[in-house]
Amino acid sequence: MKATKLEWDESILKKYNVSGPRYTSYPTALEFSGDYQLEDYVSCIESIDKDKSLSLYIHIPFCQNICYYCACNKVITKDHSKSERYVSNLIKEIKMVAAKSPAKVLRQIHWGGGTPTFLLMEQIAAIMETIRESFIVPDESSTEISIEVDPRALRIEDIKTLAHMGFNRMSMGVQDFDPDVQKSINRIQPYEMTRDMVVEARKYGFQSINLDLIYGLPLQTRETFKDTLEKVIEISPDRISVFNYAHLPHRFKPQRRIIAAQLPSPSVKLSIFEYIIETLQKDGYLYIGMDHFAKPDDELAIAQQNNCLHRNFQGYTTHEEYELIGVGVSSIGSMNGQYHQNVRDLEDYYEALDAGRLPSWRGVGMTFDDKVRKKVIFDLICHFETNKKEVEQEFDINFDSYFSKELSLLDEFKNDGLLTEDEVALKVTGKGRLLIRNICMMFDAYLNELQVTTSFSKVI
Ligand code: SF4
Repeated sequence: MKATKLEWDESILKKYNVSGPRYTSYPTALEFSGDYQLEDYVSCIESIDKDKSLSLYIHIPFCQNICYYCACNKVITKDHSKSERYVSNLIKEIKMVAAKSPAKVLRQIHWGGGTPTFLLMEQIAAIMETIRESFIVPDESSTEISIEVDPRALRIEDIKTLAHMGFNRMSMGVQDFDPDVQKSINRIQPYEMTRDMVVEARKYGFQSINLDLIYGLPLQTRETFKDTLEKVIEISPDRISVFNYAHLPHRFKPQRRIIAAQLPSPSVKLSIFEYIIETLQKDGYLYIGMDHFAKPDDELAIAQQNNCLHRNFQGYTTHEEYELIGVGVSSIGSMNGQYHQNVRDLEDYYEALDAGRLPSWRGVGMTFDDKVRKKVIFDLICHFETNKKEVEQEFDINFDSYFSKELSLLDEFKNDGLLTEDEVALKVTGKGRLLIRNICMMFDAYLNELQVTTSFSKVI
């Protein structure tokens, strides 16, 4: 796939600025159901092809302080002893899933949260040791072992310890470097703290270092964000994720502490977003898609170029073929054409494992139609095109008749210059790339108006 530059068209962005899913799965998590039972999950793990490679996601829910914008499932506590019970249960869960899975080779390990570095280094080491004893981690240098780091919750000397444990990828939350913005979201994290962490991580061989930013936060203006972005570019991360803040205080309690009157107006927000796109592209970053930018030599950009970029619950990922097992409270896995999620509540999590059960909550088995639509949606969101012939061959369908309704819904997108269609492919143009969610939504069989207005963040 050739890299096409994003094109900015404000009137088009305003026209299509509705809410929509981020498509980290299809069907989305809204379709996961309690009808999916523990037995379904167990038989799903037990029937993983033994020759498949695995990806393991580990969720650590604890955070020391609340960030007011946060919409994650987390437990806020300063009491570090709370993690002891969690770690012992997590170790138990890892052993249980590993014993059930015929596939053993782990090629990707990702730690997310919450704040994984809330745990003591000894606790992280104990979990890593369990993983190595329970699975096969073949060549550590070629296995991606990544961790989400909160620079406020990690001593700089611990970077070396993490590297010695095998971690080789890192993502850091920043959001904004402006002190007033940081105060308004209750996340005080000086620029120097983040910069020094990145320098140290590079020293110990971490690759693909990612920084997370958010636009649309209180007190942000184009000028304040310019300063933040200049600092980010000075740090020169391999990847930058820039998320749109969705203010949904009716759904996410911490957001009620954000002063709504301090939020930037839609036009300021749009102007910040325009500035981000202009600046990052000028600075050599490629737009990977959905909030993500990467340097051309980063593995995400290379995977996109080689048509092997994929998407899962952690965002974009480089390996489509791995079966994903999630462990820890609320974690999500995807394997054998099924999605599965663990219970969200800590007490439920402990109760299940104390009783010797996997802490399964809900899931969904994909139908034939789900699989066809997932292929099209993921092709579009990862590669900005879908090859009709490939879809026809894989699923033995006629693309144009199978999707006749969807293709007619796309007429408006084509007329607005967001998409082209010929006999072989649907291709998203530079102007359509920022609206990739809207295009994918046309292929989503589950979306209804209520979901669109109440369940998702706005596209821009
Ligand atoms: S944003 Fe991250 S660090 Fe802040 S409360 Fe949410 S999960 Fe915790």
